[in-house]
Amino acid sequence: MTSKHNSRIAGFYKLSLEERHKKILENSQLTAQELADLTAEAGLSPAQADHMIENVVGMHSLPLGIALNFVVNDRQVLVPMAIEEPSVVAGASFMAKLARAGGGFRARTSLPEMIGQMQILDVADLEAAESALLQEKENLLAEAAKVDPVLQKLGGGPRDIEVRQFADSPIGPFLVLHLVYDVRDAMGANAVNTAVERLAPLVESITGGRVHLRILSNLADRRLAYVECTIPHSELAFDSYSGSEVVQGVIEAWAFAAVDGYRAATHNKGIMNGVDAVVIATGNDWRAVEAGAHAYAARDGSYTSLSTWGQDAEGNLVGRLEMPMAVGIIGGATKVHPSARAALKLMGVETAAELAEIIVSVGAAP
Ligand code: NAD
Repeated sequence: MTSKHNSRIAGFYKLSLEERHKKILENSQLTAQELADLTAEAGLSPAQADHMIENVVGMHSLPLGIALNFVVNDRQVLVPMAIEEPSVVAGASFMAKLARAGGGFRARTSLPEMIGQMQILDVADLEAAESALLQEKENLLAEAAKVDPVLQKLGGGPRDIEVRQFADSPIGPFLVLHLVYDVRDAMGANAVNTAVERLAPLVESITGGRVHLRILSNLADRRLAYVECTIPHSELAFDSYSGSEVVQGVIEAWAFAAVDGYRAATHNKGIMNGVDAVVIATGNDWRAVEAGAHAYAARDGSYTSLSTWGQDAEGNLVGRLEMPMAVGIIGGATKVHPSARAALKLMGVETAAELAEIIVSVGAAP
């Protein structure tokens, strides 16, 4: 999106649908056809749907709204959100307006590394099998690198092998191999599943064991998105409450989620309201993002808040969110679903990392 585009469109909520369409055209790089794709009633033709899943009989629609006011890494962005719940789009737009007064959202991502797991059963000596696998690491990585020449050419592919021992399980001891795989701009599940499938015979010959499951882990804790925003305390005053009192109130509410799983579940649901709506609008796999988020929230053994809220030296409210973000701009439905494709274009994202940065910013603005 170029600088003439603005994500702050005053009175957008009061406009008719047609007038809103016009504003979107004025404030994005969408062509008229792409706007039509984005806003089409079904978003998808029955024939297209029939190629996506099994036993198709029709379409299921959700409202698509635009969250305003977002500035992510100094870039103005209109954010498409597909969601049935009222108040989420308005709430995100309101929070984005407050964050905008503090410079907007500052977001970044880790490398796009996903994990493929292989469960190795019937291993006589776990210790010996682990060392054998680690000794053969380079061969295993070289074998995995042959699987996806496209990904390899783009600078992605296998990165590392890790081995974990489970000495005590309901079926006795077994070994687990993790293949760390850089999936670039894809969500990566198919890519990773294909790679671990390919490694199975080699892993069996190295360990003398039997490879049972070979599949992606949705706990994408090596593919994280981070965001921080500062809301000036002066923006938060309302009625008889001072800005400092509101800052204090937000921190008190967050502290409840930090220590209590019952509250954390609801707190994180608020985060996922924003996250899922953008994930869905862009044709991404929201079950994968949900699974990753909640598993990550429980990574230290007790379920807690994905975000933290505190204050800086001037008493401004500072929010931070860190969570796995396995989303792509290629593969899955992202490129075949016309409305999803237009949603990506609306945000002007050119990499999966940029998309993740916007999504995590919306998550921080529930
Ligand atoms: P995909 O296989 O359709 O696309 C990925 C492929 O696109 C890569 O392997 C690569 O060959 C190619 N590619 C071209 N340009 C690329 C670029 N710039 N960056 C990366 N790859 C590029 O899709 P996927 O992302 O591997 O898998 C996503 C799909 O898998 C989703 O539909 C998801 O719902 C589904 N899925 C999820 C799970 C799970 O979450 N547990 C399991 C199975 C399948």
